[in-house]
Amino acid sequence: MARKKREALFPFDSLSSDGVSSPMPSLDGLKVVQSKIHGYGIVALRPFRTGDVLVFGDGVLYHEDQEFDDTYSLVYSDAEDAKEAPDRYFDLIDQTRWINHACGPNTEVSTDLDAKTGQPHAWWTALRDIEVGEELTYDYAFSGHLAEPCNCNNSACIGLIVDPAEISDVPAKLQPLIKSDRLDERRAQTELSELA
Ligand SMILES: [Zn+2]
Repeated sequence: MARKKREALFPFDSLSSDGVSSPMPSLDGLKVVQSKIHGYGIVALRPFRTGDVLVFGDGVLYHEDQEFDDTYSLVYSDAEDAKEAPDRYFDLIDQTRWINHACGPNTEVSTDLDAKTGQPHAWWTALRDIEVGEELTYDYAFSGHLAEPCNCNNSACIGLIVDPAEISDVPAKLQPLIKSDRLDERRAQTELSELA
């Protein structure tokens, strides 16, 4: 099979002997940088508008009972029967894994699973206008027992990376970090958006 010669996009953009491209794909209009929030982050290189899809994430789907590193995974559940279906995890293998959490995020992640092919998809949509240089964030909404201290520095920060609906499951040693007044505000906003 003849392979069309490709222009090298950047120094490491080459196909290995088994035909699998080794480097992570670059993100259109986005860049990985050192983050003010945590570790690496992704900033916008151009403006995005509310509702724009910023990026699709590539990943590998795992079932809950498989051995894998879930550090950069999105949780997949069937919305209607989340209690019965085994949880699956979409391990992000591209640069989308560097998108940080914030309590007042500027993007929202959506996921679906193609019913025919079983292929999972994940994509990030702008919740508001995003300016050049602004870091992309979304709400990790961790389960209560997996809560972690939050350093997002957002005025809406509740002190922990956690789903506000699961505060009762937060380990006792992390409970003092919760900023109750902001948590109340967040819950009120969530109720309003669910009524809308
Ligand atoms: Zn926060």
